[in-house]
Amino acid sequence: MIDFDHVTRTYGPRTAVADLSLSIPRGELFALLGPNGAGKTTTIRMLVGLLHPSRGAIRVCGHDLVSNPRAAHLHIGYVPDEPCLYDKLTGREFLWFIADMFGMPRHLAGARIDREIEHFELGEFADDLAERYSLGMKQRLVFAASLLHDPDVLVLDEPMVGLDPRSVRIVKDLLAARTREGMTVFMSTHTLAMAEEMADRVGIMVRGQLRFLGTLAELREQMTLETTTLEQMYLELTAPRGTAS
Ligand code: ATP
Repeated sequence: MIDFDHVTRTYGPRTAVADLSLSIPRGELFALLGPNGAGKTTTIRMLVGLLHPSRGAIRVCGHDLVSNPRAAHLHIGYVPDEPCLYDKLTGREFLWFIADMFGMPRHLAGARIDREIEHFELGEFADDLAERYSLGMKQRLVFAASLLHDPDVLVLDEPMVGLDPRSVRIVKDLLAARTREGMTVFMSTHTLAMAEEMADRVGIMVRGQLRFLGTLAELREQMTLETTTLEQMYLELTAPRGTAS
């Protein structure tokens, strides 16, 4: 469903992502972990077509993000790390705008908009201007927008930032339900408890390189620590050189 094929991204002399090869099958929830500056956002921005790889290729549902971006985008929903809305549109107007961008017929768009307003409990403020929204309200609206076209692949950059506990529960339940139906989720997160609870596999990226790829059970097998919480293993794998215990 998602294929990274020897992907490298440089910024001038700096290599942010180095020779990343990774395949995520349909229905998997994959969590990309790693310290600040590891290359997670760069990876995600390439996956949604906002950045081009310097080398290598990325395909979503078989469509190359560089040579066939329009076909790839129709399969992708994206929730960026900072919600990006139009201050002078209401939440509902924003959802209509997104539905129009995907070319959805009016009757289908109306039904999907109502569906997502209900899922994300946006009803109380859907007709207020976005400039009045709190961070969490913006985040919930962006989630709703990302799911309107029923994407095959949902890409989330730090999805839980700004969400209150009830909204976190809504998002977790929704991700679990959608992945059961076959949607693939690629998310970056610093919330290890979320990865531990939700992810089928994790990738741990350090300085642009995947240092681990697999299930938590595989990670536990590989590590020789006495305690095997994800936090403990993560800290061990990502410790700056020379400080690992
Ligand atoms: P965080 O957890 O802090 O969000 P991250 O894992 O998402 O970090 P990236 O934002 O992908 O990391 O950054 C990876 C590396 O690329 C860092 O060294 C960063 O300084 C560098 N970088 C990112 N964007 C740019 C840019 N536009 N120009 C130059 N260097 C950049």
